[in-house]
Amino acid sequence: MKILLVDDSRTIRNIQKNILAKLGHTEIDEAPDGVEGVAKVREFSPDLILLDWNMPNMDGLTFLKTIRADGVTTPVIMCTTEAEKSRVITAIQAGANNYVVKPFSTETMADKIEQTMRKLTAPAP
Ligand SMILES: [Mg+2]
Repeated sequence: MKILLVDDSRTIRNIQKNILAKLGHTEIDEAPDGVEGVAKVREFSPDLILLDWNMPNMDGLTFLKTIRADGVTTPVIMCTTEAEKSRVITAIQAGANNYVVKPFSTETMADKIEQTMRKLTAPAP
């Protein structure tokens, strides 16, 4: 599964890569802001996107609205901080599939990915 990390913090991206590697995910690409993220969505065609909110040039919410307006249906997990929990509804309305609060453990990330991908493949009720 190809996973795109969009986060302005190299440290966070490295932590995410380590967590994902432990979960067996090695097809990873990354972008430091929404502008490069949009380009990477086109080049890399990810199966899943882990998205930061606060970034320079283009923030996560704008990135999300941009790719959804382009018709991109790739699942997106928003990675927020505790203080941003109230913004989760905004993110979901903009097309986020799930969210995870930073800092997250390997177990939490595994659960969120499993939950997100399961929802996608669940048959319609
Ligand atoms: Mg950030």
